[in-house]
Amino acid sequence: MVFHYKRSYRGPIEAVLLDWAGTTMDFGCLAPAVVFVEVFKRKRVPISMEEARAPMGAHKRVHIQRVTELDSVRQRWQAVHGRLPSDDDVEGMFAEFVPLQLECLSAYSELIPGTLEVVEQLRRRGIKIGSTTGYTTPMMAINLRDAARQGYKPDSTVCASDVPAGRPSPYMCLQNVINLGVSTVQACVKVDDTIPGVEEGLNAGMWTIGLAVSGNEVGLSRPDWEALPQGDKHAKRERAHSRLWQAGAHYVVDSIADIMPCIDDIEERLHRGEQP
Ligand SMILES: [Mg+2]
Repeated sequence: MVFHYKRSYRGPIEAVLLDWAGTTMDFGCLAPAVVFVEVFKRKRVPISMEEARAPMGAHKRVHIQRVTELDSVRQRWQAVHGRLPSDDDVEGMFAEFVPLQLECLSAYSELIPGTLEVVEQLRRRGIKIGSTTGYTTPMMAINLRDAARQGYKPDSTVCASDVPAGRPSPYMCLQNVINLGVSTVQACVKVDDTIPGVEEGLNAGMWTIGLAVSGNEVGLSRPDWEALPQGDKHAKRERAHSRLWQAGAHYVVDSIADIMPCIDDIEERLHRGEQP
């Protein structure tokens, strides 16, 4: 008889990697969305909020490029400019995007309820807090300052501009592994409100938790979300949950305030020898 023995990590969770907009701050992930809309408006090719949000999670320059690749946007661009959008157009829009984004970030930097409590509980268990973002380093300087003022200071922050490629590539997660001195990727949990953000964690070999309500998938500020009639809330929540499940997330909950039961469940699964 021939047996094959499989090696499995059975230790504790060592790090939780949190996304920024829509996960720990900026409920509804509004800051980038409004600026993408503005940048296209200036090119006389207005885009809908849905088009602006479609590639959310990517590096912001890549995000602009992806919007110009949407069929609907290409058709309207062609009608206005008599040609399709080029690489130079994308570069030009990104150059306009940067100062506009820097200017308005602080208006959207309030922490999402539950962030401080969850980070505190994770730290009490000896878990390190990493973070990844599609924002560039100068943008993150503003968010880091505003977060620190509210009491949130992750142990590591990696921006899309710090690595060879942003989401859905795993590099930002893996850079956090290095920065935090984590022993294996299976000991990490990635938390994100976007599909590319869930894919980033999966591509890094980590556990993933999708956040359906607080981020890009619902895309509403907290007051707007709370004011929705029950039926609309139910429909939007269901749609967001289903999209993040289909992206392959191990768990999907409404917001960061709800992740601790998932963390407990992952710890149990690791002890049983399960892998992400
Ligand atoms: Mg996000």
